[in-house]
Amino acid sequence: MKLRDKVEYLWYKYNFTPRRDLGQNFLIDSHIVEKIVDTIKPDKKDTILEIGAGTGVLTEKLVKKGGKVIAVEIDKNLGEALKKEFKEYLNLKIICGDITQISFDEEFKQAKSVKLVGNLPYYIASLILLDMIKKDWVKFMVVMVQREVAEKLLAKPGNKKRGRLTVLMNYYGQGEKIIDIPPQAFTPPSKVGATLLKIEKRERCKLKDENNFFSVVKAAFSLRRKMITNSLSKELGINKDSIKEKLESIGIDWRKRAEDLTEEEFISISNNLGVKNAH
Ligand code: SAM
Repeated sequence: MKLRDKVEYLWYKYNFTPRRDLGQNFLIDSHIVEKIVDTIKPDKKDTILEIGAGTGVLTEKLVKKGGKVIAVEIDKNLGEALKKEFKEYLNLKIICGDITQISFDEEFKQAKSVKLVGNLPYYIASLILLDMIKKDWVKFMVVMVQREVAEKLLAKPGNKKRGRLTVLMNYYGQGEKIIDIPPQAFTPPSKVGATLLKIEKRERCKLKDENNFFSVVKAAFSLRRKMITNSLSKELGINKDSIKEKLESIGIDWRKRAEDLTEEEFISISNNLGVKNAH
């Protein structure tokens, strides 16, 4: 049976209507599903966490590879349908719930190598990416995100698409584009294209204070058209001249704008610029 027929049969069987507010655009392109599986390289020894199992097209492929799969789905109708459809797979645990409200820190305390996968709901994609990349137990992430988010994540210094998310994510991980996915690969078709990314964890040890780093990055991008001396001064409440002096002393051009700075430069600014009440 074609993937589209399989997905739509499931809707019919469980009297299901896709919800736009939950980002429910389901994959129906088997080549893309294969590509995701190839990128994850599932192994019998693996633990895989899937975010937003949906109609289970990816879940089933992963579970058949033999490792342990934990699939989270917020939509109770879908979650219950998947529990029935996949009841024979003993290596699958389906959790009906909101991924942003579930902590796996205790469950994965001993695990250092959970592979995270998801065709991420657009409305929480950035939140999930930033939250998950920091987890010690995550080995890598293979995620589908809106094209615009992918471009933001991969934007190099000097690119206007660079933003707070780019710098913070790049501190924790290194993203790689695997493939672009057209709207027709989903049912109902998505409004915009998506991109499949693999994000590997990075070694990180250069920051003196993570909160300080967050505050500096946030401040720099809050007035993104201005020179960083101005945005940092205004947002952090630090005298402009002392910022200028500090930037010069660490070899950073104070006239640059946030989007022109490298991650290394942000780290250097954060390590050298004390911020009151960093949050
Ligand atoms: N993985 C499936 C696929 O590729 O066909 C579904 C992808 S669909 C883009 C996103 C899925 O995430 C939907 O099934 C939606 O119900 C689910 N979802 C949305 N918000 C969620 C949340 N906060 N926690 C868990 N799942 C969520």
